[in-house]
Amino acid sequence: AAKQAGRNRFHQFDAAQERAQREQREQGLRLREALVQAQFVLFLQPKVVMQTGQVIGAEALVRWQHPERGLLPPGAFLPLLDGTELEIDFGQWVVEAALAQLEQLLDAGLNLPVSVNISAQHLQHPDFAGWMVQCLARHPRVAPRLLELEITESAALYDLTAVTETLATLRALGVAISLDDFGTGYSSLTYLRRLPMDTLKIDQSFVQGMMADPGDRAIVQGVIGLAQSFGYQVIAEGVETIEQGQLLQQLGCAQAQGYCIARPMPLGAFIDWSRHWQQPTAWQHFPSEGYS
Ligand code: C2E
Ligand code: MG
Ligand code: MG
Ligand code: MG
Repeated sequence: AAKQAGRNRFHQFDAAQERAQREQREQGLRLREALVQAQFVLFLQPKVVMQTGQVIGAEALVRWQHPERGLLPPGAFLPLLDGTELEIDFGQWVVEAALAQLEQLLDAGLNLPVSVNISAQHLQHPDFAGWMVQCLARHPRVAPRLLELEITESAALYDLTAVTETLATLRALGVAISLDDFGTGYSSLTYLRRLPMDTLKIDQSFVQGMMADPGDRAIVQGVIGLAQSFGYQVIAEGVETIEQGQLLQQLGCAQAQGYCIARPMPLGAFIDWSRHWQQPTAWQHFPSEGYS
């Protein structure tokens, strides 16, 4: 009887596993369908110099315009792509779509860089740099300096030697590199100095914590100090209040991105926004000289 029960448990386990695998396959198919049917869309979120209000670029953030469920944030579907074959196709779509948006921005008279988020797997693809070169060649109107790549520390550190080479190749072309969510990973200072890159992005968790938590404030200060001593630009993400923006400027971070400036929005709305945007007057009192 015990043996029989064991076998049943096994059967149940098999059934549950089978169901999970089937669901995964179906989700994969739906994502591929979404890619083929062009259901993904890139929203743009502006990056500004707080003191002058100057718009210095935008980050492209993917959304899934789902036929039944409406507009889905990346957190709802990117995890399903993780580690699948589709991840590279998707990553390539994102870069192509960003280049197409860059052309539309140029048509609208906006000569602004756009950054794209690159997944660890895509970055580590052996031909990532070569593919990127071809991609840029297909969009001759878009100068390479208009494209920025946002990578996370863990993606960069996974295979430091290969990634360093990839990033160096791309930077030599003029493509800028940002380290995203900085402070949440495990990079050592030695690695940080070796990585060919341009900008540190202070993770939003520290920005949102720094008003009340001295530890978070110390991390923000530390990241700004690191950026200054290594000669990197620094930008704060997730700036939601004027007060956060003021403190960031006091601490030496001049650039920001966040809801108190603008939410991510479709291309057309971004073009309108950039024609009408005025920075909060409370930010004009903070001198930007001497800061990166
Ligand atoms: P991320 O690259 O760190 O992007 C910043 C996230 O913070 C975005 O969330 C943005 O909408 C959100 N955000 C911006 N300002 C504020 C603010 O003031 N307050 C708060 N609470 N949030 C703010 P989103 O669009 O949901 O994207 C989440 C993450 O998904 C991104 O984090 C990025 O890691 C990933 N992601 C987005 N688009 C892509 C993509 O095209 N490819 C890849 N591989 N990853 C992407
Ligand atoms: Mg990002
Ligand atoms: Mg980030
Ligand atoms: Mg993030």
